[in-house]
Amino acid sequence: MEKIRLGISTCLLGENVRYDGGHKLDRFLTDTLGQYVEYVPVCPEVECGLPIPRESMHLEGDPESPRLVTSRTKQDMTERMVRWAEKRVVEIEEEGLCGFIFKSDSPSSGMERVKVYNEKGMPVKRGTGMFARIFMEHFPLLPVEEEGRLHDPNLRENFIERIFILKRWREALTEKESRGIVVNFHTQHKLLILSHSPKHYQTMGKLVAKAKELSIKELYQQYQTILMEALQLKTTPKKHANVLQHMMGYFKEQLSADEKQELLEVIDHYRQEYIPLIVPTTLIQHYVRKYDQPYLKEQVYLNPHPLELQLRNHV
Ligand code: SF4
Repeated sequence: MEKIRLGISTCLLGENVRYDGGHKLDRFLTDTLGQYVEYVPVCPEVECGLPIPRESMHLEGDPESPRLVTSRTKQDMTERMVRWAEKRVVEIEEEGLCGFIFKSDSPSSGMERVKVYNEKGMPVKRGTGMFARIFMEHFPLLPVEEEGRLHDPNLRENFIERIFILKRWREALTEKESRGIVVNFHTQHKLLILSHSPKHYQTMGKLVAKAKELSIKELYQQYQTILMEALQLKTTPKKHANVLQHMMGYFKEQLSADEKQELLEVIDHYRQEYIPLIVPTTLIQHYVRKYDQPYLKEQVYLNPHPLELQLRNHV
């Protein structure tokens, strides 16, 4: 697989673009995730023409549509930032991004819970950075996260899984147009989708079953929309345990009573969060290999992202 293209707030890469001339290097993003992705850096404040260093800024006014104002001299930068951001998101369409990682708490780049000050100078943490808001409105289904939230193992796993799946989908679409692309992709991702949302799993199954009734373009578009909506819904130990038990059903004939009992116990221990997800999935993978189970062998659920990232060791 080619590297995944991801947008990122420039200061997270260690570039000295912050208002104080510093950076916010995040080593997980550069050294670990960076092995699999190609970053497209965006610094809204510098790219809209502000110098380094510069006066710090904040959001103020109505948290639903705040203004971007410099903290000391109270210059209003809202129009300048909005004008630049609306143009920049159109340019970014050409970049083929599979997601964006924003710098938290920034009045320009923060994705959520950014401070917005009222007229008395009191902050409420309900705002979104000005560029981040325009970006998310322009690309509503693109996976987005903040570097701070990526320290949470569940959010990290979810985000990275989504960018890998979106990349796989985009690669599938580079093949010659055909409904078969959607059918194959869906077959390989069924259990992964089920681990996020049984409801979307059913809807997508019905969509694929009536693939011939839609034009190929409509099919691609509808499938991609539902896929990204499904993956936005978080997995839970209960949903994973259901998928794992479903997989166990494929070995009804092969496993001994003792092996079945052991696998059930491992799944239950995972469901109760005594052990991480990597334990039951490794055991199932062992049986998939041993018995060469053709359907499960193809399931992306068992290998959604590189093992080296160790994401399932912590969820
Ligand atoms: S938070 Fe955003 S605007 Fe601020 S320095 Fe980083 S990339 Fe630039």
